[in-house]
Amino acid sequence: MATTHKTRMLIIGSGPAGLSAAIYGARAGMEPIVVQGLQPGGQLTITTDVENYPGFREVIQGPWLMQEMQAQAEHVGTRMMWDTITSVDLSGPVFVATGDSGDTYEGDTLVIATGAQARWLGVPGEQALSGKGVSACATCDGFFYRGRKVVVIGGGNTAVEEALYLTNHSDDVTLIHRRDSLRAEKILQDRLLANPKITVVWNKKVDEFLGDDRGELRAVALTDTETGEKSEIATDGAFVAIGHAPATELFKGKLAMDETGYLLVQPGTPKTDIPGVYAAGDVSDHTYRQAITAAGSGCMAALDAERYLAERDFAGITETEQA
Ligand code: FAD
Ligand code: NAP
Repeated sequence: MATTHKTRMLIIGSGPAGLSAAIYGARAGMEPIVVQGLQPGGQLTITTDVENYPGFREVIQGPWLMQEMQAQAEHVGTRMMWDTITSVDLSGPVFVATGDSGDTYEGDTLVIATGAQARWLGVPGEQALSGKGVSACATCDGFFYRGRKVVVIGGGNTAVEEALYLTNHSDDVTLIHRRDSLRAEKILQDRLLANPKITVVWNKKVDEFLGDDRGELRAVALTDTETGEKSEIATDGAFVAIGHAPATELFKGKLAMDETGYLLVQPGTPKTDIPGVYAAGDVSDHTYRQAITAAGSGCMAALDAERYLAERDFAGITETEQA
């Protein structure tokens, strides 16, 4: 039977932003509810080594970090829900979200921390060969390509990390990038370029993923972005690593967003254009997109939510006294 869950602070998303908001919200007595969505723990659960989250001298694992964050949030009083929000009503004063389960979640405040999802190239063969050679997650699927030839598409941190990770399984990794320089951090570039198992193919865009007669990937078709020359690279696996798009479909027409779908917030704050509704983490950040910045903005959202409720409650008490 469908249930209605009520809370002072409803959080959609269980990545670093959502869980940090929950830790602060719970410690402020707001008894937060976190609706976890399809990727409990968020993007860091699909990576391995994390070397830049403060507090850890040794390299830590992304999934472990997120388990610890969740345990901390639960320890201080957060309720975690296995559900995915399918619609929201932001007309207020209570914000209502409905889950895939049929349950309804009512929050006096709402923190949107839905993060981002892998982007796809949108070229022929990509969808048809997804799971049959085409993937967007090397740490999830790299193991299947032990001793085989793989390509990675992209030039940012994710692509470089995916290529480096794949060398654990394959001696023949090709990074395909559409320009002649990488966007990735220098330390990662240095590791990539020094790795004898990795070849970089510059100035090539992928036109199509080509399947064999068994319906499995056999090659990628390319065009040189400078000369227009066509070519093919034979491969067993192709990992698309061209970044992520914000998960904001739910909020279209309800909250202000930029032309690429990132939620707009008041500069330097997580405040959206609706008082009591906050956006934290990658969902509103196309610049930094790091676990630590997501966690920081989750903290800010919880602090702002607490102040919003305190002011609202104080105004309510004052009105009652005047009546
Ligand atoms: P996310 O982590 O994207 O979490 C979003 C959450 O929202 C998920 O739990 C999802 O299930 C939930 N959600 C979405 N839609 C719904 C819905 N409708 N209903 C309910 N829940 C929903 N950053 C670093 O600092 N260091 C690194 O080493 C690093 N490595 C990375 C490696 C990879 C492969 C990737 C992809 C990213 C990496 N990043 C790294 C970036 C970092 O993971 C992100 O910046 C961070 O996870 C963003 O946190 P977030 O909480 O905003 O969103
Ligand atoms: P990103 O930085 O946005 O890079 C995306 C890459 O894909 C770019 O090189 C881009 O090319 C390329 N690309 C985009 N669309 C393409 C298309 N249609 N065809 C071909 N190539 C395309 O994304 P990201 O690498 O996923 O990183 C996202 C964020 O997470 C960043 O802030 C990053 O710092 C962070 N992150 C951090 C770590 C870490 O700290 N270790 C690890 C992973 C991710 P152009 O360069 O030509 O635009």
